[in-house]
Amino acid sequence: MQFRDLRKQYQVLKPEIDRGIQEVIDSTAFILGKPVLDLEKELAEYVGRKHCVACGNGTDALVLALKALDIGSGDAVFTADFTYIASASCAELVGATSVFVDIDLETFNIDPSSLEKQIKKVFDQGKLKPKAIIPVDLFGQPANYRELEKIAQKYGLIIVEDAAQGFGGMIGKKRACSFGKISCTSFFPAKPLGCYGDGGAIFTDDDRIAERLRSLRAGGKSPVDKYDNVEIGTNSRLDTIQAAILLPKFHAFREQELVNVNKVANWYTSRLKGKVVTPKVLDGYLSSWAQYTILLKNKEERDRLQFVLKENGIPSMIYYPRGMHQQKAFKNLGLNDEDYPNAVEATKRVLSLPMHPYLTEEEVEYICSAILKEIK
Ligand SMILES: *Cc1c(COP(=O)(O)O)cnc(C)c1O
Repeated sequence: MQFRDLRKQYQVLKPEIDRGIQEVIDSTAFILGKPVLDLEKELAEYVGRKHCVACGNGTDALVLALKALDIGSGDAVFTADFTYIASASCAELVGATSVFVDIDLETFNIDPSSLEKQIKKVFDQGKLKPKAIIPVDLFGQPANYRELEKIAQKYGLIIVEDAAQGFGGMIGKKRACSFGKISCTSFFPAKPLGCYGDGGAIFTDDDRIAERLRSLRAGGKSPVDKYDNVEIGTNSRLDTIQAAILLPKFHAFREQELVNVNKVANWYTSRLKGKVVTPKVLDGYLSSWAQYTILLKNKEERDRLQFVLKENGIPSMIYYPRGMHQQKAFKNLGLNDEDYPNAVEATKRVLSLPMHPYLTEEEVEYICSAILKEIK
């Protein structure tokens, strides 16, 4: 059994993916070829944004977004403590400072009241200038943007959505990648929409920011003369071959896979509810199930269950074993566990189960009975 079965997906989509790759090779338009432009157009339309700028990976997407907002030295950027490192490292990579915020233990997303506390603290200390919030759509569920937007407005902060795991999710009729001023996603193979290497994209409705992002991802070139560089940019474009792979994968995602992962999640929840803490999707929210993550009673129960699952040939993962404030790279900030009780609790109790659109009901049944046999 695979944790995320990319081989099964390829078997289903092979003819279109193979044809797409071959066409790119035949065209020799390896950089910013037509599939990249087609993909950008389709994705922008799907998420409900005016612009999509494809780039090299999700980390670069966040870094480019912060650069396009002129965020840098002396600025504070608030993000969740419980996330993948890039949500936090992007601020440091542009010279700004990350400020970590505890999470809500029910959704694993940034907790609005802890956010407000941290913002006030930074204002009171007067050393850094609060500039932006990077909420993370963790495990596929959008963060609480209704509350977060109120806070952003109150303190004059810009929201940059980290939708690396959130692509496809919704709040009401609004899709992930359409929240805040700029949204970022990743096409790392195991994300809800993944390619066959590294890839990412940035979304915005702002024409000026979109133009700047197109320049920044290509060395800072001028939009009219590519050998006249208007500022210092980087090289972070999505390969045409990856775009050609993403197009049929996106169509499958839109037409079946997003529905299928929700079906799989329902199978899990209906069997596990009441025995372990099953993931909570808020009313009116849709998750794209980057992960299906349960909470066990404590670390001992979690570690024992992971071991037993492994013995039964069932892969599981601990996302995440450490909060940002516990990372060696952030040791210099001198942060304490006491300020992140929910994040610390999550690191001890979470376990992510196999999740992908090609899981069968029988496989989910097998996983659940192994869990239920262990958890009495
Ligand atoms: C994967 C991920 C990223 C970074 O994406 P890469 O393409 O791997 O650089 C950023 N934020 C979150 C929450 C992620 O899960």
